[in-house]
Order: sequence, then structure tokens, then C-alpha cells
Amino acid sequence: MLTVDRFARPLRSLRISVTDRCNLRCQYCMPEPEYVWLPRESLLTFEETTALVDAFASVGVDRVRITGGEPLLRRNLPELIEQLAARPLLADLSLTTNGVLLREHAAALRAAGLHRITISLDTLREDRFREIARFDELPAVLAGIDAAARAGFASLKIDSVVLRNRNDDELVPLLEFGRSVGAEVRFIEYMDVGGATRWSPDAVVSRQEILARVGAVYGAIEPLGGRASAPAERFRLPDGTTFGIIASTTEPFCAACDRSRLTADGLWLLCLYARGGVDLRRPLREGATGEEIARLITTVWSMRADRGAEERLGAGAREPLIPLAALKRDAHLEMHTRGG
Ligand code: SAM
Ligand code: SF4
Ligand code: SF4
Repeated sequence: MLTVDRFARPLRSLRISVTDRCNLRCQYCMPEPEYVWLPRESLLTFEETTALVDAFASVGVDRVRITGGEPLLRRNLPELIEQLAARPLLADLSLTTNGVLLREHAAALRAAGLHRITISLDTLREDRFREIARFDELPAVLAGIDAAARAGFASLKIDSVVLRNRNDDELVPLLEFGRSVGAEVRFIEYMDVGGATRWSPDAVVSRQEILARVGAVYGAIEPLGGRASAPAERFRLPDGTTFGIIASTTEPFCAACDRSRLTADGLWLLCLYARGGVDLRRPLREGATGEEIARLITTVWSMRADRGAEERLGAGAREPLIPLAALKRDAHLEMHTRGG
């Protein structure tokens, strides 16, 4: 069954945040000294998460990505992966992690049936890693990437947020590193999402500039096409190396967006930029059946008209999306709660 929204976009992909906690404090995501956390008792249990996934799958979701906060901080995560991997309707099961704890978990995640892993890595220099992520964890992340490469995942990706004057001189080293470990690198434009309280237009390095800089080193870049609803546009260098760019800020792709997000406490968000969402934990805990929740999902999705990044682009002069005071009042507005 396919459920479409008001712009005929199907509901296919669900990103599930399993925790809002994180063991890094990336400047573009969690730059503040203190955060208000979701109460522990509000977090969905694995049983509740799989019940919701079954409802989503019954109305068309066939791709699930586990995220956070840092998802590897969630205790016994491989158990959830195992339960999800057993769902025949899910064609794709992936995870996005900062990699700090991946060395310990890579093999167990693979054994549990996880298909793909994306690791976030913005720099290969220890001093910069400390500046950007505020912890000394680069060696742990590199060990995590190595463990993932050896664990036999179908595909490994490295996501790098490109920040002007912070790491924008590392495009080529990151591409070379990606090739050396068998991972495809994707450069992400710095987004003005909730939580990015230090965002400014000057700090964004655009898709166009990334292509120009990479092309100046490697020569002609070939666009690969075949993107469909994927956020990343893919390219090939003359030597055959492929890479991606996620241009959410300067060239958003809302027209093809089939993604929605579930926070760790069961709030369903129809757009990364949405101010509010639908609480699915409440009906679940009040005893709603899977069919009832599936009906709620289709009703809400059929009314969806979100195109947050395109609206931001059309809004002219930009500054951080959500003021700090509003973020402090509602943790659900934070990128680390939404899962990216
Ligand atoms: N902690 C995990 C990680 O970092 O991979 C998963 C959650 S994190 C919120 C998911 C992704 O969002 C990361 O790749 C991160 O780089 C990206 N992200 C966070 N804030 C961003 C921003 N302001 N602009 C662009 N990407 C951002
Ligand atoms: Fe960085 Fe991910 Fe943690 Fe955000 S959630 S601070 S992007 S590691
Ligand atoms: Fe989808 Fe919203 Fe992102 Fe646009 S901004 S691609 S509608 S999640």
C-alpha cells in the first residue's frame, strides 16, 4: 500500500531516533553548554518502536534508518536491529552514527542484520576534531570506521558537514580517505535547522563551490543521475571515485521528499523543519491497535504539504531557525532530538 501526501509524495522512508543523548557536541548541532533531555520514561521501548514500525510498514514505509543523538548510546541496540531486520516489508535498514562507539558494536550490528552504515566524520585532523566536536575522539572514530569496513556491510558512507574556514580545505583529504577505506563520502551543506544556533549564511559552503573546488583538483566531474528521492546527488571523478553532495541549504530537494522522522519518545515529524509533530506514543500506550495507528498515519500524511528547506530558501535573508529560548522550552525542536 502506498500513502501519498498533497504533493503526491509517497511515505517510504522513516528515520528513527533511539536516543537524544550524544557523546559529542558538534558545533553545528549541539553548540550550547547545556541541554534539556527527554525524560527517560518517555522513550519508546523496543517493543513500542517495532509496533510503530509495523504500522508504518503496513502503509508503505520500506526503508528505516536508525539515528540519534548518538544511537550507539542506546543500550542493547543490536536487539532492536535484529527485530527490525526480521520484518520482511523493510527492504533497507541503515544506521547513522558518529562512530565513537562503533569499534565495539560494528560486528554485533552486522550480525543482527543491519544492512548499511553511515558514519559522520568532518575532519581528519585531531585538533580540528576537538574544535568541531569538542571531544578528543578522532582515533576512536577512525577505529570504528575500520571495524565497520571489516564487518562486511553492504555499503559504507561517510557524511561530512562542510563548514567555511573550519574544514573546507579537507574536501580532497576526505575523498582520499573515503576511497582508502571503501566508503563513499557525502558532503553536506551546513543547514539552519533547529539547534544550529551558530549558523550563518557565511559559514555555508554551497554545492556549487564544493563541485568547483573538487573539480579544480581532480578534473571533470560526471553527475551520475538516478537520484530518485535520495537526498544526495552523486558524482564520479575521472579516476572512478564516486561521492555525493547533500545540498539541503542552497538546492533543496523537498519536491521528492518521502522521509519522515520519529523521535525517541514517539513524536512523528513530517519535515526536518517542522515546528510540531504527531504524538504516536500516546495512542500506542492507550491501547490503540496497529490498524488504528496505521489509519492515523495515512490521514496525517495525506494532508502533508511540508517543504521546509524550500521555504527557508525562499524566505530571503536567513538567520538561525529557532531562537535559543524556544529550543530550551521544547527539546523536540533540536536536530539531535530529530535525528538529522
Ligand atoms: N550522532 C549521529 C551522527 O552524528 O551521525 C546521528 C545523529 S546526527 C543529528 C545526524 C546527521 O546530522 C549527522 O551526519 C550530522 O552531521 C548532521 N547534522 C547535524 N546538524 C547539522 C547541521 N546543522 N547541518 C547539516 N547537517 C547536520
Ligand atoms: Fe554531532 Fe551527531 Fe551528536 Fe549532533 S547528534 S552533536 S551531529 S554526533
Ligand atoms: Fe523533506 Fe522537509 Fe527536508 Fe524538504 S526540508 S527534504 S520536506 S524533510
